[in-house]
Amino acid sequence: MTGRFGDYGGQFVAETLVGPLEELWNTYLEARQDSAFEAELNGLLATFVGRPTPITRLRRLGIEPHGVTIWLKREDLTHTGAHKINNAIGQALLASRLGKRRIIAETGAGQHGVAVAAACAYLGLDATIYMGRVDAERQLPNLQRMRLLGAEVRLVDQGTATLKDAVNEAIREWITHPDTTHYLLGSVVGPHPFPSIVRDFQSVIGREAREQFLAASGRLPDAVIACVGGGSNSIGVFSGFLDDPVRLIGVQAAGDGSGSLGHHAAPLIYGEPGVLQGMRTYLLQDDDGQVLLTHSIAPGLDYPGAGPEHSHLKDSGRVEYLTASDDEALDAFQELARSEGIVPALESSHAVAAALRVAPTFARGSQLLVNLSGRGDKDLTSAMAAIGQRKEQTGGAA
Ligand SMILES: *Cc1c(COP(=O)(O)O)cnc(C)c1O
Repeated sequence: MTGRFGDYGGQFVAETLVGPLEELWNTYLEARQDSAFEAELNGLLATFVGRPTPITRLRRLGIEPHGVTIWLKREDLTHTGAHKINNAIGQALLASRLGKRRIIAETGAGQHGVAVAAACAYLGLDATIYMGRVDAERQLPNLQRMRLLGAEVRLVDQGTATLKDAVNEAIREWITHPDTTHYLLGSVVGPHPFPSIVRDFQSVIGREAREQFLAASGRLPDAVIACVGGGSNSIGVFSGFLDDPVRLIGVQAAGDGSGSLGHHAAPLIYGEPGVLQGMRTYLLQDDDGQVLLTHSIAPGLDYPGAGPEHSHLKDSGRVEYLTASDDEALDAFQELARSEGIVPALESSHAVAAALRVAPTFARGSQLLVNLSGRGDKDLTSAMAAIGQRKEQTGGAA
């Protein structure tokens, strides 16, 4: 059935949204058959986003002492600094095709909001971005960036004033103006057709990476590794290798590493199936079905559900899901910077950490491809503070 991934996905929404979601899906299917749409999208990816992004072979990490070569797919080099722009520009183009000149979006840490604001400015669309007031205070530079890019940012005070509350406000607004407004969702989550549309726009990562890896290495990688928040950068890169004999490894945030509820953001490891924000998927919830608070040092991974396709890939066993903790991510953040000259986003640092941990379990000569979903400039303040705090606790040995 359309919009289902095994037992997961679906469309658990208010009656008023069924029509707009159907219109979105039909327009999307039409657009994908239209060579003019494809050409315009590819042109924007090349000239505005900066694609193709390269793959980079690491010179030190993994090679010593394990003889395993690690490669990075460099989504950190895209315009606005993360993979989110691939989806933002694709959906903004789709909104233009739908005749909707106004875009609304939610943002947590602000990365998706910045990508949407940039895409809308370039394509001449109006952007309204919902952001929790608590998040806005923690991510002031991104709030300023969105406003500079011409977006109207509406601060949300409801609930815990974070991402989930921003999503609820954005949906509320969309329900009242579905004819003139497109809701530009930022990951492979929510009701059908968002998980499919966002996956398709992010699949450019996997298509490029597969071709680039074959050209550079003469073979496929032994494993592809990516971090999983909502799940879009991972689905994007995995989609290029699903039919290949390649191990696929998704990495969720273990937070403080204790495994206690409220201290991590790993629904695919610790969660149970349930319904949240329009989809059925693995969730972190208590016995009464109340969604639980999550914790990760990486704001983009701090979410209680993962996209429904991941839930299916977990049950089918095609993708293995592991975790990396805040501490492991901070170590990888520093190691990649010092050893290779690349400052990764804290989200992507989880994937790098897991790659370094599993490298010794691979035979010498193996090759791993890590999707570096974004750059770390946005995280400098919080990462340096956390590293400083750790130094104090351990008496200098960070
Ligand atoms: C938002 C974000 C993520 C998490 O989102 P996914 O949908 O799981 O990809 C990961 N990395 C970066 C850099 C992000 O900004």
